[in-house]
Amino acid sequence: MPTLTPPPSQQSNDSGRMPVLFIGHGSPMNAIEANDFTRALSEVGKALPRPSAILCISAHWLTKGTYVEVSPRPRIIYDIYGFPQQLYQLQYPAAGAPQLAAELPGLVEGTHIEPTTDWGLDHGAWSILKHLYPQADVPVFQMSIDYHRPLSYHYKLANELRTLRQRGVLIIGSGNLTHNLQQVDLTRPDTRPADWALEFDATIKQFIDRADHRAVLALDKLGNMARLAVPEPSHYIPLIYTLGLQDKHDNVQYFYEGFQYGSLSMRCLQINDN
Ligand code: ZN
Repeated sequence: MPTLTPPPSQQSNDSGRMPVLFIGHGSPMNAIEANDFTRALSEVGKALPRPSAILCISAHWLTKGTYVEVSPRPRIIYDIYGFPQQLYQLQYPAAGAPQLAAELPGLVEGTHIEPTTDWGLDHGAWSILKHLYPQADVPVFQMSIDYHRPLSYHYKLANELRTLRQRGVLIIGSGNLTHNLQQVDLTRPDTRPADWALEFDATIKQFIDRADHRAVLALDKLGNMARLAVPEPSHYIPLIYTLGLQDKHDNVQYFYEGFQYGSLSMRCLQINDN
């Protein structure tokens, strides 16, 4: 059974650094469902300080090279197949943040970020934003994941984006801590999680709790459970961005823990300024 912890309370810190989120997005159906997970998202959306903009790094925008979406009105992308018609009618008419997005390439020295208007909002973004900010009244833009790079690349790039927190930007990594579609039972959302999924999820949580990010990056040291939990890294990389935005004195809270469809960890976390 999923377990809920109370959502973090309204932040009121002197330095005004925005929290950072990692959200296990799970099935696109969460966009239109009401369950413990979506209720937790709604509560977090209400409790967070009001962002100036949202930067979402989604497991569903994988590229060669790193891109940032600079459209004034990002289109919604229905990158899902075989779902009920209701999902394809869903709208999320948020504005983009073209000026801010265009600044991203200048913020980083370690890599090249290319502006583009070829993307929009994929379901890794809209399925969760629908609950976090149902009014679609916060500007939102996405940055892609260079799928050909090692985890350390993403961690370092996230380090360079930390200044955005001071500017009130809410950065969200949207993926899943465990994601093996060969091992999910889509007919049964509440199937008992597999042992390897439970073990991997708990192990990574321990690493996060002691801010041992080096261990989070070293999947090759975690053996078979890591091979089962992260058969390919698309959904794990957004977690790396979230952790790469953590500062030394920040703390971490888990506002949702649980599994869907047997092996899909829905663990969500919030990094807060202390
Ligand atoms: Zn996904």
